[in-house]
Amino acid sequence: MLSYSVDDTESIIPKPSQLYDVVIIGSGPAGYTAGIYTSRAKLRTRIISGSLPGGQLMTTSEVENYPGFPNGIFGPELMMNMRQQAERFGSLIADDEVIHVDFNRRPFEIASHSETYEAHSVIICTGATPRKLGIIAEESFAGRGISYCATCDGPFFRGEDIVVVGGGDTALEEAAFLTKFGRSVRIVHRRDSLRASKILQEKAFENPKIEFLWNSVVSDIEGDKKVRAIVVKNVDDSGKQKISAGGLFVAIGHEPNTAIFKGQIEMDDKGYIVLKNHTNTSVDGVFAAGDVHDFRYRQAITAGGFGCMAALDVEKWLTESKHKR
Ligand code: NAP
Repeated sequence: MLSYSVDDTESIIPKPSQLYDVVIIGSGPAGYTAGIYTSRAKLRTRIISGSLPGGQLMTTSEVENYPGFPNGIFGPELMMNMRQQAERFGSLIADDEVIHVDFNRRPFEIASHSETYEAHSVIICTGATPRKLGIIAEESFAGRGISYCATCDGPFFRGEDIVVVGGGDTALEEAAFLTKFGRSVRIVHRRDSLRASKILQEKAFENPKIEFLWNSVVSDIEGDKKVRAIVVKNVDDSGKQKISAGGLFVAIGHEPNTAIFKGQIEMDDKGYIVLKNHTNTSVDGVFAAGDVHDFRYRQAITAGGFGCMAALDVEKWLTESKHKR
């Protein structure tokens, strides 16, 4: 099918239809896996990558826990492999960012900076972004001793003194996990009580390798090639102390990347997409996969699994709703 657009010079340029069976928004493990499945099922598939094609794993070094790679694989290489696999089956990928969606019309409309797409179905795979401490040194030590995922990076910190920031379930779970590798684990928390569930609190208090620094925030990070020490400030008297540490794990929550969907689909009070019945969102024909709805597991393998599930759900939905072209 051809549609026509008028450019600045008023000439008429034929351009391919931008109507797709499915548009996948986001290109982490969820997005690319969804693309592999939908394009392999012969659905006309467009993936719009977002501002960081490949997602969070593009900024990680080695991934040791993704099955199939006994010697590990670098995050960017893993994501390039997934991208090529999706393209091999016919997924068209636009390295562009979605700025607006309209789920009130059919087909759905998805606008990026440079193009407007139409789709019978959509899979949202925009992920979540770890909250940052917001101190200047945080950026300079990125990938050099600061991590936002203990499951991903914990084993790289064997024998180190480790600092974890946060007082929620994630911070306590990550601290407990990190005691397997670190010589010591200190949890720095800005208040004098934790918001984590009681069971996790009890376990942390009982763990001889975990120590708490209450009413404290990280004010600076010191080191050379990697993190060597953390400067902690007491929020009551502003007193500072320097703690020797080889690793800093920031576990102060994530922000789901859902701003562009506000008002269009149901989300919880933290902005995560609410799923009904497997991968369906509150809008019939719009599906979601990965960290954008899953605040519990947040792993590449689980995001990929959700991407697969959403693709299978899309295929069934398109067939049942007779949209499949
Ligand atoms: P969270 O519950 O939002 O907790 C974030 C923690 O970080 C809070 O203690 C908060 O302090 C602190 N914090 C926030 N911003 C900060 C900043 N700028 N500087 C210093 N500290 C800061 O996030 P989460 O622990 O990632 O958990 C997210 C959700 O997943 C929760 O619903 C949780 O129950 C769930 N989850 C469940 C499990 C499980 O069931 N096993 C495991 C992990 C996560 P304040 O307390 O002072 O606000």
